[in-house]
Amino acid sequence: MAPRKPGRHFFANPGPTNIPDSVIAAMSRNSMDFMEADFLAVFDAARAGLQRLLFTQGEVFFYASTGHGAWEATMVNLFSPGDQVLMIGGGFFSSQWAALSRKFGLAVEVLEVDWRTGVDLDRLKARLAADRGAEIKAVCAVHNETSTSVALPLPEIRAVIDAARHPALFLVDTISSLGCFEFRMADWGIDAVVGGSQKGLMLPAGLAFTAAGPRALAAHAQAKTPRFYFDWTAMLERRFRGFTGTVPITPFFGMVEALRLIEQEGIPAVWARHHRLAAATRAAVTAWGRSNRGPELYCRDPSRYSDSVTTILLPEGINADSLRALLLERFNVSTGGGLGTLSGKIFRIGHMGDLNEAMLLGTLGTVEMALKLAGIPHAPGGVAAAMESLTQSA
Ligand code: PLP
Repeated sequence: MAPRKPGRHFFANPGPTNIPDSVIAAMSRNSMDFMEADFLAVFDAARAGLQRLLFTQGEVFFYASTGHGAWEATMVNLFSPGDQVLMIGGGFFSSQWAALSRKFGLAVEVLEVDWRTGVDLDRLKARLAADRGAEIKAVCAVHNETSTSVALPLPEIRAVIDAARHPALFLVDTISSLGCFEFRMADWGIDAVVGGSQKGLMLPAGLAFTAAGPRALAAHAQAKTPRFYFDWTAMLERRFRGFTGTVPITPFFGMVEALRLIEQEGIPAVWARHHRLAAATRAAVTAWGRSNRGPELYCRDPSRYSDSVTTILLPEGINADSLRALLLERFNVSTGGGLGTLSGKIFRIGHMGDLNEAMLLGTLGTVEMALKLAGIPHAPGGVAAAMESLTQSA
């Protein structure tokens, strides 16, 4: 038997994230008939709360799935085989979204970018301007690329699409930004949004959704890709507007409580808290990096720093997964690893969801110890820098 690990498991992953006690309690319940009026009220409250968090009055379609299901649902409901979409590249998740879309016969063009800075808006502008026949049916963007910690400026992307007078739909993956930093579906002219439960929403994985505005619903009416479980038309015709099959009641009870917590704190206050914790994390990494060959922030553009996750690049030749293993085995601290081509090169500290200063400092302090124990070159003082940042912003 593995030895007992005393104390709390420190969970600093970029999703899933920590689940507040009251959300766990709200989900701890027996089955009930999902057609009952009592549950319908919960379902409606979850949808209405999500619309407030998304800043939309659009339709919300829910799926018993993770984010991958919501990607799939969105693409099969909006397009027909052969349709062309432009995916803004930049990391593991945009690559996955592109690969998934290709499986359904879409002609996906990836606008390649430097992963450490994200999309070049001039190149996007040029690509849209060159599409005189408006062949591109949608521009797809991952708001927060969780693999790289680069966050995209959605209003600026919207402005580029508008300046090109391009009719493409604007689709956004908000899986690791919603409930973490500013996101406004209607004001930013976003036609469809893909979301999931297990990050800023502080719920277990397993409930995902798409919010669709009027232009997306109009595109849906023309879309011919086969679909059944995910079919929005069928969902709209059901009494359960927005779900297919047996509704899993538990995550909806959890979602209502999670949204209540977010609104009690205040949506802008939640964004501000994420910003404070993220800035402190970046201050720590920057301090560690003040050595000859130290760790560094993977994202190179400060205007695009993510407030929900920090991706940390280790010096060449050092295996980030060994550091993560040390953190987990020796100190019971779980961090995120590198995905795809970044595997072994980076590690990620998630600072999204139900998190406070003390929890973050616990993680950063342990990382600083582990850097030392692993003999990874770094300058001391990361935790002190994080504390200074948190003191300044308190
Ligand atoms: N999009 C982003 C930005 C993500 O971070 C993730 C998962 O971490 C996904 C999509 C895929 O979601 P899931 O793992 O829930 O299927």
